[in-house]
Amino acid sequence: MTIEPPRRLHALTPAVHAWLPDGHGTWGLANCVLVAGEGTALLVDTPYTADLTRHLMRLSARVLRPGTEITTVVNTHGNGDHSYGNGLFTATGAEVISTDANTEHLCKEPSPAQLAALVAGSDPGTPLGAYVTRHFGRYGDFGVSEAVPPTRTFGGRLDLDVSGVAVELIEVGPAHTVGDLIVHLPTEGVVCAGDVIFCDDHPVHWAGPLDEVHRAVQRVLACDPQVVVPGHGPLMTPADVGVYADYLLQTRDRIHTAHAAGHPLAQAAAEVIAGDTHPHWKLAERLAILTAVEYRALDGDTAPVDLISLVDLAARHTDPVAL
Ligand SMILES: [Zn+2]
Repeated sequence: MTIEPPRRLHALTPAVHAWLPDGHGTWGLANCVLVAGEGTALLVDTPYTADLTRHLMRLSARVLRPGTEITTVVNTHGNGDHSYGNGLFTATGAEVISTDANTEHLCKEPSPAQLAALVAGSDPGTPLGAYVTRHFGRYGDFGVSEAVPPTRTFGGRLDLDVSGVAVELIEVGPAHTVGDLIVHLPTEGVVCAGDVIFCDDHPVHWAGPLDEVHRAVQRVLACDPQVVVPGHGPLMTPADVGVYADYLLQTRDRIHTAHAAGHPLAQAAAEVIAGDTHPHWKLAERLAILTAVEYRALDGDTAPVDLISLVDLAARHTDPVAL
């Protein structure tokens, strides 16, 4: 599968432009949002590879006023598909802001070099090898070897002014990861939700449990936005987000039922996937990860999360036709 980056940025308001790659049915192509003030600009999340990041920089230059630079990058969380491009901006002097808790997550996130080595060294004859080759192999070496961490962190809330555009950074983790934040643009009617919200594919959440993700989604809705930019997938209305919130609770209930019945994790994951109510969404195998994360919470398991073992679990629950 080749990567086709967006041909243009999508104008949400005169000051807000979204980069919306078509990542339906795959991993890694996350949305980014450019907030363009008079003289400075802020970018919410950076793409997965150096090439994609340069492409976004070129498209951004077309909509920014002459002389306006991206001086601030915000990472909604620490997954590489939202932060591996950071270094191309810090190289120009930009600051990178995220939550204090995101620093904890970054200790567990593989570096670009580690992830590229994992993919290159995997055996495509195994479920995990086939899965990571299909979904991550096309990113090659990512064009960077190390992720650049945030240069400024905060807890709770941080308000910024991007040359006249108000920006509220609101910590909502642990939810998708331990360190999530959402970006509220109150005068623009926009919320950038990061991976607290997925659209058109099954969600994956690493920290959870789903009650906490649901609480974070409610925080998005409490901003009363007109447009919500999910971490992946097309733009959403608040009504769309409400449907997604309900789905999280339905999925939680199915997992809890399996747990109460004493079903082992693998059996529960298979049952949750088989009973899913959104077959038009792709990546149903991610429900295995949601099941595992929910089981951890129900079992009181506080051992460090092994991200690779969770992807391996998903790979073992992937429809062979999808590979
Ligand atoms: Zn993501």
